[in-house]
Amino acid sequence: MKDQRVNLPVKDRFVLPEGMIYLDGNSLGPLPCGVEQAVSNAVTAQWGGHLIKAWNVDGWMNQPMRVGNKISRLLGAAKDSITMGDTLSVKVFQALASSLKLRPDRKVILSDSGNFPSDLYMAQGLIQHLDQGHELRIVPPEDVAAALTDEVAVAMITQVDYRTGRMHDMQHVTQAAHACGAVMLWDLAHSAGAVPVDLTKSQCEFAVGCTYKYLNGGPGAPAFIYVRPDLIGQISPALSGWLGHDAPFAFESNYRPAPDIERMRVGTPPVLQLTTLETALDAWDGVDMQDLRKASLHLSDVFISQVEAKCPSLTLISPRNGAERGSQVSFAFDHGYAMVQALIARDVIGDFRAPNVMRFGFTPLYLDETDVRRAVDILADVLDNRLWDRPEFQSVNHVT
Ligand SMILES: *Cc1c(COP(=O)(O)O)cnc(C)c1O
Repeated sequence: MKDQRVNLPVKDRFVLPEGMIYLDGNSLGPLPCGVEQAVSNAVTAQWGGHLIKAWNVDGWMNQPMRVGNKISRLLGAAKDSITMGDTLSVKVFQALASSLKLRPDRKVILSDSGNFPSDLYMAQGLIQHLDQGHELRIVPPEDVAAALTDEVAVAMITQVDYRTGRMHDMQHVTQAAHACGAVMLWDLAHSAGAVPVDLTKSQCEFAVGCTYKYLNGGPGAPAFIYVRPDLIGQISPALSGWLGHDAPFAFESNYRPAPDIERMRVGTPPVLQLTTLETALDAWDGVDMQDLRKASLHLSDVFISQVEAKCPSLTLISPRNGAERGSQVSFAFDHGYAMVQALIARDVIGDFRAPNVMRFGFTPLYLDETDVRRAVDILADVLDNRLWDRPEFQSVNHVT
């Protein structure tokens, strides 16, 4: 049964609070069924019962590769080309450092103003650390292809803009990068599990992403890193930890990288988080990414047309053309923060990004058109009756 193509949504694969419409799966995916039991088993039977034997008998040490291979199908990646660990920011650093090593004569890291700040910060920190005159060049998203010149060592681009959902054409940008001799590094934070991705076809050198967003791996879930298989032997890891060594348990004094993708591992894997993720990925069994994309565009289009019909004071800031959009839709509104708080109080969960962006993620695994229409009705009610204008919705929380 496992591989049979399923119809969407598959709500019964998730634990969703009764009555809640969850439009924030782009930020933290919900709890998939089976996770609680799997983690409990890992704690009680494996850790509690097997103790250190569990590294072997329960397959803990191979978990990063096993989970990487489970993600590969969703990203069009070859077997054994993805491994797991650390957080996305760390994986960005690793991929970026390796990219610069591949182009020692070039000094520019190209990114765009739609990138998530942490990626830019990691680039800035790496440049400062290397102290070799590198430059982070940030251009508007629409200018990326034109900015790819022979000065560029690496294009570090996040495919889907976290604020607006605007999506880069992976094939087009990768070809432009390669045409000028640059390395292509994709951040798939808002792509993995949101849109079909074909890493093999793209021919990009590196891809990274997190797993707590559309992949539902839970808070603190480890990140993934992909390296194009023909290149792995040339990659020199900047974070040369023992589990990226060719023979970790030989405990040699000198670092020798593993011959394969395992060289991108660093230290001890987060077993409980990986157990969560490994089980969470079962929610994708039989899900065809083209079906998912179709459903996602339908939900997003319904949302846009309903909001525009019922809430004229909101301004769409996502691309109207679905082909240029990931799986989220954003509207600008001056009182966006208070508005999102008022919606949360009504069990419609979206989020807010400064200065005035209300984001709504569309996740066809557990959302259907009825949910979307109901969410818009509540949105319209909150707006029409100025319910956001209450004092309790004005104070800003630490996490928005
Ligand atoms: C969510 C996100 C991050 C977060 O990085 P962590 O290290 O996992 O906290 C980084 N980059 C992008 C593009 C993101 O969307």
